[in-house]
Amino acid sequence: MRKTIFTLLVVLSSIGIASATTPNKIVIPDIEGYKTLKGDFHIHTVFSDASVWPTTRVQEAIWEGLDVIAITDHVDSRLQKQIKNGLFDADKCDRNRSFKIAKNAAGKQLLVIHGGEISRGMPPGHWNCLFVSDCNKICTAAEQFDDDDFKAAQAGLKEAHAQGGFTMWNHPNWEKQAPNETIWWKEHEKLYKAGYMQGIEVYNKFCGYSPEAHKWALERNITMFANSDCHTPFFYMIDYLNGQHRPVTLVFAKERTEEAVRDALEHGRTAAYAEEMVYGREDMLRPLFEACVKVENVKFTDKQISFTLVNKSCIPIRLRKAAGSEKYYYVRNYELRPFETIKITVRPLLVDNKSQKFDTDSVDVNFIAETFQIGPDTPLPVVLHFNK
Ligand SMILES: [Zn+2]
Ligand SMILES: [Zn+2]
Repeated sequence: MRKTIFTLLVVLSSIGIASATTPNKIVIPDIEGYKTLKGDFHIHTVFSDASVWPTTRVQEAIWEGLDVIAITDHVDSRLQKQIKNGLFDADKCDRNRSFKIAKNAAGKQLLVIHGGEISRGMPPGHWNCLFVSDCNKICTAAEQFDDDDFKAAQAGLKEAHAQGGFTMWNHPNWEKQAPNETIWWKEHEKLYKAGYMQGIEVYNKFCGYSPEAHKWALERNITMFANSDCHTPFFYMIDYLNGQHRPVTLVFAKERTEEAVRDALEHGRTAAYAEEMVYGREDMLRPLFEACVKVENVKFTDKQISFTLVNKSCIPIRLRKAAGSEKYYYVRNYELRPFETIKITVRPLLVDNKSQKFDTDSVDVNFIAETFQIGPDTPLPVVLHFNK
């Protein structure tokens, strides 16, 4: 018996211990023409002001089924705290180290993007630089203007772009920097015109959803993100056992490569998925909705249409009857929970309490999808079209 246990232990240690089951995996189907990748582009480690080693960030992301992460430690001020605390030597301080450790740990299981966060007062606030090659240089560029937040950020962003970076405005609604309202300052206009505002956080775990950011992204063609901005281990932030997961940026990419992720970000092919809601542009959310919700088992008779809706995703779908279907009656509100199938029956309005026949061979059943927001307070309209 003892020998068996010993053998078992040897076998277990040689194959490594299998990772624990993820209670609420993020499952979202591909859309037509693109793979749906799950990304978190705002992640901190002990190499700035978080409590977690980069390797753990990689394990957390793989455990949750993500495809891509960016390590975005603060390139400037916050690292100084760690130096002061004696965790790192100022002269050996390499701001690319967290990325290198994470990239090495990830192997081929996860795409890891080299990034860094420029953290300045508002305006212009905090900015993530993605796809960069040297965060030390970004820090040096910004530090030349340490007493001027705008100039410092501008110089850091300029350096990030010289490295071929993609840059974005983080948490524009952070209450510390936007205590009463979320403002697009004239400084943001300048950075936008310079081509630096390629992305914006429509959702950040600490600040929640920003309708202003959503609106600006639509008006100015800025790529939308939902990110965690994690500073603690994820089990501190996310109640996995109660079905939560981290916010993710859905990236609609031609393939699962860094280049394809970059291409998707540059062309705005993303959606922000957080707190069981999806925020984005209609041209992305419509194909996503169509990939998630399938209409099956249609039966169109003289007096009724019945069909099933199947949710192929982990996103709860809330549907509400919308204008355009006044001639028909059906239940006005549906909730299609993750992976659930529901049956819907549509009938012509009763006349004198008697059931009627359809007076047409083609029927539109109109809904709005409340969990798919294509603008602030603007749910996605959905028309299910049936022909006899
Ligand atoms: Zn920040
Ligand atoms: Zn951050």
